[in-house]
Amino acid sequence: MEVGKAPKIVVVGAGPGGLATAMLMAHKGCDVTVLEARDDVGGRTGAIREQGFCFDIGPTFFLYPEVLQNIFAEVGRDLMTEVPMVRIDPLYRVVFEGEGHLDARSCPDAMSREIARLSPSDARNLRRFLSDNRQKISKFKTILQNPFDTLFDYLRPSVVTSLPILRPHRSLDDDLKKFFADDRVRRAFSFQSKYLGMSPFNCPSLFTILAFLEHEYGVWHPIGGCNRVMQRMCEIAAELGAEIRLGEPVTSFAFDGDSISAALTEQGRYEADAVVVNADFAQAMQRLIPERFRRRWNNRKIESRSYSCSTFMMYLGITGDLPEVQHHTISLARDLERNVRDIQEDLVLPRQPSFYVQNACVTDKTLAPEGHSALYVLVPVPNADAQIDWQLEAKAYREHTLDRLSLIGIGDLRNRIVFERILTPDGWIEEQNIYKAATFNMSHKLNQMLYFRPHNRFEDVPGLYLVGGGTHPGSGLPVIFESARISSRLIADDLRL
Ligand SMILES: Cc1cc2nc3c(=O)[nH]c(=O)nc-3n(C[C@H](O)[C@H](O)[C@H](O)COP(=O)(O)OP(=O)(O)OC[C@H]3O[C@@H](n4cnc5c(N)ncnc54)[C@H](O)[C@@H]3O)c2cc1C
Repeated sequence: MEVGKAPKIVVVGAGPGGLATAMLMAHKGCDVTVLEARDDVGGRTGAIREQGFCFDIGPTFFLYPEVLQNIFAEVGRDLMTEVPMVRIDPLYRVVFEGEGHLDARSCPDAMSREIARLSPSDARNLRRFLSDNRQKISKFKTILQNPFDTLFDYLRPSVVTSLPILRPHRSLDDDLKKFFADDRVRRAFSFQSKYLGMSPFNCPSLFTILAFLEHEYGVWHPIGGCNRVMQRMCEIAAELGAEIRLGEPVTSFAFDGDSISAALTEQGRYEADAVVVNADFAQAMQRLIPERFRRRWNNRKIESRSYSCSTFMMYLGITGDLPEVQHHTISLARDLERNVRDIQEDLVLPRQPSFYVQNACVTDKTLAPEGHSALYVLVPVPNADAQIDWQLEAKAYREHTLDRLSLIGIGDLRNRIVFERILTPDGWIEEQNIYKAATFNMSHKLNQMLYFRPHNRFEDVPGLYLVGGGTHPGSGLPVIFESARISSRLIADDLRL
């Protein structure tokens, strides 16, 4: 680091993790450059803007805004003023194929009444579930907020005291059986494991906190979509002095001995006292860091990890509106276990899949031209390990998916579609550089979390830090923002800022 000069930080990728890091490091007085491969910011949280429609590419649920609120506050801004948000109620509708539905409500009394419609005895246990998870989250918060650099971190008092409460060896579905006997009720509190690309039947029980966070802190919709948060973060980072360079992929790094010293693009060379990689971990490591520098994370180890599922996406601009369809609807397959097996074990295209539909125009008219609506459809499918020929399958799967929308009360839309974009696992690889099209990164099994997940301070290469869904604490916006806080703190410590 040159004496008397601001430390130079290069951030590779303008996804949520990269933008949050850019804001924090620019605010600390660093000379920050963000290099983004695409022509727009946000990565998987970016937007498709066409013919007056605006679709979020990936995230549509903005949960637990507290973490981002803290980041905004740290740089002197107020999140809700910068990006107005609406708290959605009902949070979402869960449709159980052929077995009714449940509207998740933010008020516990209203939620109890909804559960009672399906199972009166389970309704009595809602408050017990909420208080159990309140305790879980209070224990786990410290774990999420701190790096896991060494195995000794498991001996930290906060970890040791939390283990019995976290019940790390039980599955999410098993843990929910303590509260809810009805399968449908359990599904309404466990489908959230899909946010991690995992099945409720093997996802660690810790993740009951996902449903809890929704009930306790709300499901939020940023006006303009989640991508709007990314745009504002980019503008604020620039106002704080960061330079954001779009359409400029990093092609390699320079090293000084073992330490990383610069990022290289076709346009130039960017010297760095610290490099922060926000690009998809597995992809970036294999493409950008020669294997001889990766003692712990060599290619064999990266390839042997288990990765999340992928998604088949349809972004539809339609005429008219769908006032009877909720902002968020999750349709769960009648045979959920089979659906999960298709995706994660048998690696075949599910023929009776679960799916999710966002009809955000019921809340936010800015997302479509007048008299139109923007519909987002997500179907979890196997990742690229499945070797599905999407060139061959996509058309028929589109038809099948359009037919299945009738399960949530949407009639045939074909004559109403005026804009359409389909994104298959091939597209996730080509457009977003996602390893194996595993849209939710390395999966969140216990042996791939905390110390066993790639570390925020990448120990194989001095000067290299990670942020985003591929590092600790994991995938999902609140924890991705937490990764930016952790890595920024580590950089500040290492550079003695
Ligand atoms: C379909 C889908 C739905 C999701 N829904 C939700 C949700 O509702 N709520 C939630 O909290 N989370 C959700 N997530 C998970 C997660 O929040 C997002 O995937 C999030 O965008 C991941 O952020 P990230 O910081 O890891 O970076 P990414 O979004 O992956 O961004 C990384 C950036 O790095 C860039 N890049 C890659 N290689 C290079 C290079 N060589 N040089 C320069 N730049 C490069 C990419 O172009 C990209 O812009 C969803 C994810 C998906 C895919």
